[in-house]
Amino acid sequence: MQTALGYARTMPDVDAVVVGAGLAGLVTAQWLVAQGRTVRVLEARDRVGGRVLNGTTADGHVVELGGQWIGPNQDRISSLALDLGVATFPTYNEGQNIVSYQGKLRRYTGAIPKLPPHVLADIGSAQSRLDKMARTVPLDAPWAAPDAEEWDGETVETWIRRHMRTEGGRSMLRLAVTAVFAAEACDLSLLHFLFYVNSGGQLDRMMNVAGGAQERRFVGGAQLIPDRLAQRLADVLVTSAPVRAIEQDDTGVTVRADGHTVRGTYAVVCVPPTLAGRIEYTPLLPAQRDQLTQKLPMGSVMKVLAVFDEPFWRRDGLSGQATSDVGPSGSRSTTRRPKGARASFSASSRAGTPANLRRRPTPNGKSRSSSAWRGASGQRRRRPAK
Ligand SMILES: Cc1cc2nc3c(=O)[nH]c(=O)nc-3n(C[C@H](O)[C@H](O)[C@H](O)COP(=O)(O)OP(=O)(O)OC[C@H]3O[C@@H](n4cnc5c(N)ncnc54)[C@H](O)[C@@H]3O)c2cc1C
Repeated sequence: MQTALGYARTMPDVDAVVVGAGLAGLVTAQWLVAQGRTVRVLEARDRVGGRVLNGTTADGHVVELGGQWIGPNQDRISSLALDLGVATFPTYNEGQNIVSYQGKLRRYTGAIPKLPPHVLADIGSAQSRLDKMARTVPLDAPWAAPDAEEWDGETVETWIRRHMRTEGGRSMLRLAVTAVFAAEACDLSLLHFLFYVNSGGQLDRMMNVAGGAQERRFVGGAQLIPDRLAQRLADVLVTSAPVRAIEQDDTGVTVRADGHTVRGTYAVVCVPPTLAGRIEYTPLLPAQRDQLTQKLPMGSVMKVLAVFDEPFWRRDGLSGQATSDVGPSGSRSTTRRPKGARASFSASSRAGTPANLRRRPTPNGKSRSSSAWRGASGQRRRRPAK
C-alpha cells in the first residue's frame, strides 16, 4: 500500500514493533517472541549489532570494532552467550603493564600503576570515597539517593577538582573516567557516574582485567551474539529500514520506516536517546522524555587496531596493556592470540576525528598516535604489519 508519506509496503499487524536491532532490540524481541507475542524488528542499518561489530583483518582474523569485553558482574550477557553457544576466553593478562605518566614510561605488575606514593594515596582515597557514595545510589531509582540533588548538580570534573589534591591523581582519575564512559569527566553528571559505578560493581571492577569488566572476550568476536540472535529472529527482522515516525492512536501504533509501515499494539524503541529523539512522534513525546532525548548525548570513542607479525612485547615481559596521560589515546590492550598479535586502543572525545590523531603533535614533535604505540610496546620501534 502506498501511504501519504510515500512508503511502499504495509506489513501485517503485530503485538510489538521493536525499533533497532542492537543487543537491546534483539534481546527485547527474543523475549517477546518467547512470551508468545508477535513482533517486527526494524533496523536502520543493513546489519544487526549496532555498537557491537566484528571486522576482519587482511589475513582473515576477526577483530572487534565495538564492544568486546565482559566481566564477572555482567551476568545477563554471559548467560545470553551461553544460550547462543558463543564461548568466551580470558583476556591476555600476563606480564607487566605500562603507565605513561608525565612523560615517563613505568612498568608495573597487577592492577595498581607505578605512580608516586602521594599520587596513589590521592587516587585511593578518591576511589574509596566515590565507591562509598555510589553504594547509596539505588539502581532502580538513582534520583532517590539521599544526596541525589547535590550530586546531579555537579560534574565528575568539579568533584575531582574539589576533592583530589594532586594534579597527577586528578589526571589519572579523569583518564579512568574517559576509558569507561567514552566521555570527559566535565561532561558527566556526578549522580549518573555514581549510579553507573554502583551498577558496575565499584570502580575497581569496572577498570580491571582480572576480576573486572575486561576479564573475558568472545571466541569469534562479540558480533556473533547479535548475529545468532538475528538468525533466531530471521522471520521478523527487517534491515535497511530506518524508522522515521511513530504515530500512536487509541488502538496502537503505526511505525513508519523507509519502505515499510508496520502497525503494532506497542512500539519498543531500542535506540540510544539522541537517535530516538530524531524520530517524529505523534502525539509528541511527554515533555520529560523529550528533554531526556535532547540532553543525553552519546560519548565519542575511537578504536584503532594494528596487526603485528608477532606479539614481540611479550618477549620483553610485557602484557601489552598500557595507560597514558598524554595524547588522545587513553588505554590500549592486546588480544590473546599467540600468533599475529594485534593491539587495540580506545581514544576519548579529545581525539575528535582520525585526522586529529595525525595532526596533533606531541611536545617532541612526533605524532601522538605513533608515540602511543611505542608506549604500549615498551618503546621498541616496531611498525605494525598492517
Ligand atoms: C568502541 C566501543 C567499545 C565498547 N566496548 C564495550 C565493552 O568492551 N564491553 C561492554 O559491555 N560494552 C562496550 N561498549 C558498549 C556496548 O557496545 C553498547 O552498550 C551496546 O552495544 C549498546 O547496545 P544497544 O542495543 O543499546 O544500542 P546500539 O548498539 O547502538 O543499537 C541501536 C541500534 O538501533 C539502530 N537504529 C538507530 N536509529 C534507528 C532508527 N531510527 N530506526 C531503526 N533503527 C535504528 C542502530 O543502527 C543500531 O543497530 C562499547 C561501545 C563502543 C562503541
